[in-house]
Amino acid sequence: MTCTKTTCPYCGVGCGVLAKAGEPVKGDVDHPANFGRLCSKGSALGETLDHEGRLLAPQIGDRSASWDEALDLVADKFRAAVDEHGPDSVAFYVSGQLLTEDYYVANKLMKGYIGSANIDTNSRLCMASSVAGHKRAFGSDTVPGTYEDLEQADLLVLVGSNLAWCHPVLFQRVAAAKAARPEMRVINIDPRVTSSSDLADLHLAIKGDGDTALFNGLLAEIAARGAVNTDYVEAHVNGFDVAVANAQAGDASASGLTDAELNEFYDMWIGTEKVVTIYSQGVNQSEGGADKVNAILNCHLATGRIGREGMGPFSVTGQPNAMGGREVGGLANMLACHLDIENADHRDAVQSAWNSPTMCSTAGLKAVDLFDACARGDIKALWVMSTNPAVSMPHADGVVNAIKNVPFVAVSDIMARTDTGDLADVLLPAAGWGEKSGTVTNSERRMSRQRPFLPAPEGTMADWKIICEVGKRMGWSDAFDYAGEADVFREYAALSALGTTFNRDFDISGLKDISDEDYDAMAPVQWPMKPNAETGGRFFADGGFYHADGKAKMLAVSAPEFAATPDDMFRLNTGRIRDQWHTMSRTGKSARLSQHLAEPYVEIHPEDALALGVHAADLVRLTSDQGTSIMRVLVSKKVQRGSVFAPMHWTGQLTSSGRVNPLVAPNTDPVSGQPALKATNVSIERFNAGWYGFAVSTKQMEPTRPYAAIARTNTGSQAEIAGYKIPTDWEAEARSVTGITGGDVSMMNDPASGTARVAITENGVITALFYAASTPVAVARQHIVGLVGTDISAGIALAGRASADMPDPGATVCSCLNVGVNTLRTAIADGANSVDKLGECTGAGTNCGSCKPELAALLAELKTPVAAE
Ligand code: SF4
Repeated sequence: MTCTKTTCPYCGVGCGVLAKAGEPVKGDVDHPANFGRLCSKGSALGETLDHEGRLLAPQIGDRSASWDEALDLVADKFRAAVDEHGPDSVAFYVSGQLLTEDYYVANKLMKGYIGSANIDTNSRLCMASSVAGHKRAFGSDTVPGTYEDLEQADLLVLVGSNLAWCHPVLFQRVAAAKAARPEMRVINIDPRVTSSSDLADLHLAIKGDGDTALFNGLLAEIAARGAVNTDYVEAHVNGFDVAVANAQAGDASASGLTDAELNEFYDMWIGTEKVVTIYSQGVNQSEGGADKVNAILNCHLATGRIGREGMGPFSVTGQPNAMGGREVGGLANMLACHLDIENADHRDAVQSAWNSPTMCSTAGLKAVDLFDACARGDIKALWVMSTNPAVSMPHADGVVNAIKNVPFVAVSDIMARTDTGDLADVLLPAAGWGEKSGTVTNSERRMSRQRPFLPAPEGTMADWKIICEVGKRMGWSDAFDYAGEADVFREYAALSALGTTFNRDFDISGLKDISDEDYDAMAPVQWPMKPNAETGGRFFADGGFYHADGKAKMLAVSAPEFAATPDDMFRLNTGRIRDQWHTMSRTGKSARLSQHLAEPYVEIHPEDALALGVHAADLVRLTSDQGTSIMRVLVSKKVQRGSVFAPMHWTGQLTSSGRVNPLVAPNTDPVSGQPALKATNVSIERFNAGWYGFAVSTKQMEPTRPYAAIARTNTGSQAEIAGYKIPTDWEAEARSVTGITGGDVSMMNDPASGTARVAITENGVITALFYAASTPVAVARQHIVGLVGTDISAGIALAGRASADMPDPGATVCSCLNVGVNTLRTAIADGANSVDKLGECTGAGTNCGSCKPELAALLAELKTPVAAE
């Protein structure tokens, strides 16, 4: 059987994947996003396809139901709410995980048939500020450039973007370009030192939210040095004088950078014609996110460095189909095909094309407002599709209560248990990646096919079909009667011809007559794609903006004046880690991905840790106005004093108290509605546990203790735990934690030191190991994980230490080849003094390459002279 060409379901890079049932996936060398590369997450896709934990039948309450019963119930509840309380009493909360065809029919159902714009998407959390910035500057939500620009630039400026972990294949492309052209330079602008700093010639550790001050400073300096492209500005840009005067009145030192750092940045940026400024969540997820975007766009417009080879601003999206969602109108404030809700002509045209009975006339509720409306009781029926707001929204516990307050909640998901699904009245089993079919759009406007290569499990249904079935049952049979996803796509492509009618950027009408066969075979294509016209390419080199006069607009934006974090508190920054995706429902299934960072943690500067009296591996309680969380301490100079960083991924399915978003304040950007997920004041104190534990089991353990974090292993699971009261019966505790009820027990117990160790064997084979102590447990975890399922003697296992013949590899650095930090340290001690040599000795970094920045950091940490490569 040949491989199926499909697209990775994780980040917005949109890598092409070759997949075949039962085999590891490979990168598609023909796909123009990745040319065969994959990152650690993409490489592990094949390990996430089992049906364990899948939702395989509709559920109504606690019982399974037929599809007919579940769909009838959803339709009846939505119909009843609309009839009784009006269209705005219902809402959809959807996702950048949906395919374009799913998104399109969801948007059509809500905006054109129910008649409300209460459909928002988790992309609101990801790039709404970029959309708002684009629309204000360009008159449309247009990404001007292409991925090639990142490689062709002479200077690449990363702003609030840990590209190495969040868009790893783009980072690999940049790293390869820099290796080929060492004169290419990279600047990393980020309050934290990240893995992306490894590639940077200059790291600028700005203050949190210091971006607008910095780019206003740059704009003022562009004007002061006579670097303005006056021909371009005069021909194509409005607002230049006001924006520059505003920038000149600003204070660039509010960025937190010294004069020397500012001048170095100005010299590099202004002195390099081919400059790309690439940005993501550090810019977008802010109360001043839209203004930050416009501050960046201003500099590119003033210099005319946009839409030409190797130059331009570039927003990279977090999700596989965040861009598709923007295109179909998945945001509450947009219509399909980049048309505007506020524009009556646009509304009429879409309604006419849909032949729909109604049309929303005003923007709907954006994500935070939507859940606030749920909390107030304004929403009577809510449908959450392919996302997990009970985990991912700010003030997550408040969102849980808000969802509980909605009289009827439907959730479509592939998994039976999610934090949001647990709150649903009806669960609808969706087909997953590898089973469903449709299109996604990546960060450079390239549409690619997701194709099935596995049979969808019995009982599941494609999202677009679920939505259409509900639409039909609500009384709109004709409007939602599609023969297949290609049929949906053709209608969408035909609708996009309105783009040309109204002089919008988005137009894929060249595909409106695509046959089913051609749709199946469709190669990745960059929009615009008009009939009989060249496809794709860049925007705005010669103007052609989408404001009424065809010009761009520079905006006078000011650096925000946020209240300083009180001295006794810390500014909490949240974000992603290398090997997990969103709320881990897929990546959490992969043992090797779970071993990179196996529990929630908070990064604290060493001096702050000293002042707090906490050490590495301690547990701390973080408290904000919204809630509390308990996390493991990771002492690191990568964060600034007064700031801490914690990852966003862990859910209630895997941790009892380590979720981060219950802490996060639900503040939003006033223009974009995007939550400021990187700026919550928290206090931190040591979590004084009575005891700490580490356990491994052949079972999937549950996070049941006051602190618990579960991670997948090759033979079951591992758990970090902590409790208040020291158990009196350690065997009972070990069995309760590990879920192993049978077998023989060997135990070491020293009440004086507070340590206890329990090994459980079945016919001589280790099924569970449990280690407890009065301080964080110091055992060789990777070594212990490897003992489960072996017949090593219980006595040796209880020692918890590696031996000469069974060395402990240490925490995983290279997920692909399972190379641990201890193995790397040994190789470095033996003379491996470069990333390439570490690869030769250990294999680390030789597959997907995602861990190369960490290899370089380890070499630097051990102060190894790095050999020229
Ligand atoms: Fe998937 Fe990684 Fe490519 Fe993103 S960079 S699309 S996660 S393989």
